[in-house]
Amino acid sequence: HTHAPLADLTDEALAGLLADQRAAYEEVAVRGLSLDVTRGKPSTAQLDLSDALLTLPTSTRDRSGTDVRNYGGLQGLPELREIFAELLGVDLAQLIAGNNSSLTMMRDCLVDLLLFGGVDSPRPWKDEERVTFVCPVPGYDRHFALLEELGIDMVTVPMTEHGPDVDAVRALVADDPSVKGMWLVPTYANPTGRTTSQEVAAELTAMVTAAPDFKIFWDNAYALHHLAETQTKTADVLSLASAAGNPHRAILFASTSKITYAGAGVAFLASSQEQVAWYLAHLGKGSIGPDKVNHLRHAEFFGDADGVRAHMRAHAEIIAPKFAAVDEVLSRRLGGQEIATWNTPEGGYFVNLDIVPGTASRVVALAKEVGLALTPAGASFPYGEDPRDENIRLAPTMPPLEEVREAMDVVATCVLLATAEKLTEERATR
Ligand code: PMP
Repeated sequence: HTHAPLADLTDEALAGLLADQRAAYEEVAVRGLSLDVTRGKPSTAQLDLSDALLTLPTSTRDRSGTDVRNYGGLQGLPELREIFAELLGVDLAQLIAGNNSSLTMMRDCLVDLLLFGGVDSPRPWKDEERVTFVCPVPGYDRHFALLEELGIDMVTVPMTEHGPDVDAVRALVADDPSVKGMWLVPTYANPTGRTTSQEVAAELTAMVTAAPDFKIFWDNAYALHHLAETQTKTADVLSLASAAGNPHRAILFASTSKITYAGAGVAFLASSQEQVAWYLAHLGKGSIGPDKVNHLRHAEFFGDADGVRAHMRAHAEIIAPKFAAVDEVLSRRLGGQEIATWNTPEGGYFVNLDIVPGTASRVVALAKEVGLALTPAGASFPYGEDPRDENIRLAPTMPPLEEVREAMDVVATCVLLATAEKLTEERATR
């Protein structure tokens, strides 16, 4: 294989490459593979790390003597909230521990804002002519699907190395009161792996917005999910918002979905005291309290914040080699040819692969044909539309290491084949 820019190949060399990659692809096809790197799920080995939960809690009472089996305690168990208040850098009074999904809490907030309006809304969002959200791209597909279902329009801004492009955000929010909020995954973002800097966070919390009730949905799903020794610190968005005179601007979300059990963890919401009270007031109409048995067993399992930190190191030991394998295979097969760029994240669950514009959907289709499921091309963009058809999200945590290696080899073959096809076609029509 070549390690020169692909575009510099002679016609003859390009024809050779195309033939080689077709042969490699045919060779993969007969293997009858069944590989899947579509979703950021923890592997079985990671889930096993938390199996002590299955015999907890040892007590039926929390430390104040409340029977956790009974109704009540809408804000969640204080001893668990204490651990995560420390880890998320928020005040205990500002933190809610809920049930197992932070995505559901995000949905609750959006629905409540639509139906009732927020603490600083002139009217319910449903009574506005239009509601628009700013979406940094590439981003999390479920965020976009949620807005689409609720009839909230989406406009995009690029994700930079230090978070969303602040100038682009500012231009959208300054004069248009229909722009009511934005998504942001501040730490090891899905899928770019980027972390929003303190400076960017400060600008987003302080910027002038035409809407008086503009909300940043600060989805800190990967707050503690470090892969390397350097542990990126998340900006303290609630303090920044408060200091900027916009105390209700940010709503922070997190969960233990990728800490303990993805299907039976605990989700968290934090914001200003008034906004926490607003959320609980609406929640209280539909719930007499969260699963406090789950809260207590999590509190017993971790003990304290250091218990969570140690647990996250055990996760990193399992998944860091998988991320290293992705980089190793992609570098070996695609490096130096100016046809692909990808990140080497220091945390989170994804690798973001950008290839030659116009080839991403072809690569996903080629991979599917030979038994490798990739996240659909465009999934990381609103309405599933990547305007450049160049972006592919890779999720290496779930399959065993050897399968990750094999999957990346197939990805590389499909990328080389699709790129060689495109270049050949372009030269033929020139
Ligand atoms: N936010 C982001 C950015 C995610 O990547 C995920 C999981 N893929 C979630 C939220 C879902 O969180 P939960 O399990 O707490 O609903």
